[in-house]
Amino acid sequence: MSTPLIGVLALQGDVREHLVALAAADAVARPVRRPEELAEVDGLVIPGGESTTISKLAVLFGVMEPLRARVRDGLPVYGTCAGMIMLADKILDPRSGQETIGGIDMIVRRNAFGRQNESFEAGVDVEGVEGDPVEGVFIRAPWVESVGAGAEVLAEHDGHIVAVRQGNALATSFHPELTGDHRVHALFVEMVRANRTAES
Ligand code: GLN
Repeated sequence: MSTPLIGVLALQGDVREHLVALAAADAVARPVRRPEELAEVDGLVIPGGESTTISKLAVLFGVMEPLRARVRDGLPVYGTCAGMIMLADKILDPRSGQETIGGIDMIVRRNAFGRQNESFEAGVDVEGVEGDPVEGVFIRAPWVESVGAGAEVLAEHDGHIVAVRQGNALATSFHPELTGDHRVHALFVEMVRANRTAES
């Protein structure tokens, strides 16, 4: 089967780093801004950045509803940090007007690990990632307050949930795209491949 085509939602955030990580994990990666571009991809990454900005721009560009529709239909998606917030069914402390795409039955708390100057790195054991702990880069990171029955916790740090999967949706509080370790992206590329096989 041909190499999967994976989009990176390119409204705001660290798009380039995800494009590089996906290419290193054997996917063809390209930025996605418009509904027509979204329609073409086999999977989608929602980058880190600022979830309030991504939310506003998604509405402004007319891509919020198409995103919700594709995620509802089972498009494999992976969100890091702000991207995790975008995939949460509920935000504990949303800014006014802040919306999410949803897709994972979880409640997230924004900036839960502290402000910018409290950013840190820590080894994180992620279910489904073989070998050494993943180097987790946490930048004004959210944590997951609670998950519903359908969502599976893949990792915790300091007693807080930092990686979750529900069906074809994956989310991490931290940023594997910033470390040069592509194992979490490889896990996502595998999810995309498995979904294509199931659909074909
Ligand atoms: N705190 C940011 C937000 O609420 C996320 C930060 C990040 O993506 N590194 O969107």
